[in-house]
Amino acid sequence: MTKSDIDKGRKLFSQPCKFLLSAPTSEGFPASSLPEVAFIGRSNAGKSSLINALTHRKDLARTSNTPGRTQHIVFFDLGDRLMLADLPGYGHADAPRQEKERWNELVHHYLQTRPTLRCVCLLLDARHGILAKDLVMMQFLDRAACSYKLVLTKADQIHATEQGVKQTQTEAALGQHPAARPGVLITSSKKAEGIEELRAFLAGFAAEA
Ligand code: GDP
Repeated sequence: MTKSDIDKGRKLFSQPCKFLLSAPTSEGFPASSLPEVAFIGRSNAGKSSLINALTHRKDLARTSNTPGRTQHIVFFDLGDRLMLADLPGYGHADAPRQEKERWNELVHHYLQTRPTLRCVCLLLDARHGILAKDLVMMQFLDRAACSYKLVLTKADQIHATEQGVKQTQTEAALGQHPAARPGVLITSSKKAEGIEELRAFLAGFAAEA
């Protein structure tokens, strides 16, 4: 990643990021021609914290201690150049079957049909890497030919030497996943690490200023 990429990411994310709408069903998805990137991960993977860190906000995406509660897709407009879609988390074991089915319908429909979607950031807690339910998500994205990037979160929770190991281990799995983009990013929202790199990566999808 070059300095110019980092500058582009920094500039993009210095734009105002506006909450657009929260869609409980696919009928509520906004019509938009802007390129879009989505964020998904297990409940508690650190998705809300990461969106907040990226956008310099404390409260744009609501962090929650009740995994599996948010069943909406929330859309944000970043400087009229890039749409961000915050997808509800998966993997909450206690969720009732009806809730899981609703999740599947909402999220699968979004991933399979959203015409402006350019890339999904699939977040993984760096302590755990790819867990069974993440693998299911990756296989779904592969089948849907939906381009995705793996992003490790909460890097501060593991030792610096272990961070590189986790990154390499996760990267080793990518060969079996045709829709996965090369490379794995590692971030810490708490320590603001890897955030500039993720901004630079995402800026690659934004509409020209
Ligand atoms: P979400 O359910 O995926 O949106 O996850 P949240 O952003 O709500 O985070 C879940 C929990 O992990 C919260 O207690 C956060 O404070 C914590 N968390 C999120 N990101 C980080 C991080 O980078 N480092 C640490 N140490 N904790 C984090």
